[in-house]
Amino acid sequence: MRIHHLNCSTLCPLGGHFTDRISPGFLAAHMVCHCLLIETSNGLVLVDTGLGIQDVAAPEERINPFLRAILRPKLDVNETAIAQIRALGFDPQNVKHIILTHLDFDHSGGIEDFPDAQIHVLESELRAANDPKGIKAKIRYQATRLSKIKNWNTYYAEGEKWFGFEAVRQLKGIPPEIIMIPLCGHSEGHAGVAINTDRGWLLHAGDAYFFRGEINHDYSCPSGLRGYQKLIEANHKMRILNLIKLRDLAHDHHSEVRIFSSHDSVEFSDLKNEPSRLLAGSPATFENVLWMRQPAPERRPFH
Ligand SMILES: [Zn+2]
Repeated sequence: MRIHHLNCSTLCPLGGHFTDRISPGFLAAHMVCHCLLIETSNGLVLVDTGLGIQDVAAPEERINPFLRAILRPKLDVNETAIAQIRALGFDPQNVKHIILTHLDFDHSGGIEDFPDAQIHVLESELRAANDPKGIKAKIRYQATRLSKIKNWNTYYAEGEKWFGFEAVRQLKGIPPEIIMIPLCGHSEGHAGVAINTDRGWLLHAGDAYFFRGEINHDYSCPSGLRGYQKLIEANHKMRILNLIKLRDLAHDHHSEVRIFSSHDSVEFSDLKNEPSRLLAGSPATFENVLWMRQPAPERRPFH
């Protein structure tokens, strides 16, 4: 299996240094929507889609104005998954499966660009999105849009555990090396996606955390991101419980599992093996210095 790391929408929330600890001052921070394109024997598998063509063309119809104002997505059609898949030389029709960490617009906006793909998500997430209860759910989910999509495959946690986490091990039509790990809290049915590669496990933790320091070093998070996570969370207790479990996993099994989140641009650059903005004159804060001084294997290139 070959894995491609794609940024399927750059987010530029205000708050600069207090959001990403890379950008100067209070102006735009730099965040990504980290998606995976996996070449498998059963065709291409996408993990999250980021924003889609329709989001870029008509954001006011597709994205809640409150989230648009906070996250400030770049709206560049070249960043959509379908454009990047074509640029890599693949036929988008070969995307047979899409696994979603959850149904927020910045993770699922591109599913309509792949109308024949099977979509895989936890049952509790689809239930929450189809019948949004409360103000947060109504802001985050586009129930009318999602109700038009038919190719759902939904799951409950079952089967053998994975490093102490619940797991979904049999995703329909998908090789057994790719499994879902329920990490609820950020949203009702949020999940990570773990891939067993020949270099160990890779865990896409979605929005279970937002900042690399939350599971490494001093467990810190910039105040802007901390506030946003609290604001949008569906279940505080579950989110914190899963964050603590991810910290333990990162600490106890760092040579077996490489963990990353959806929106941290430094984690993305490390995994894509491209120069990070962190190395290009970013403030020498405590966690920036610690990150750069981390020994292998934590920062090893991983494809
Ligand atoms: Zn997100």
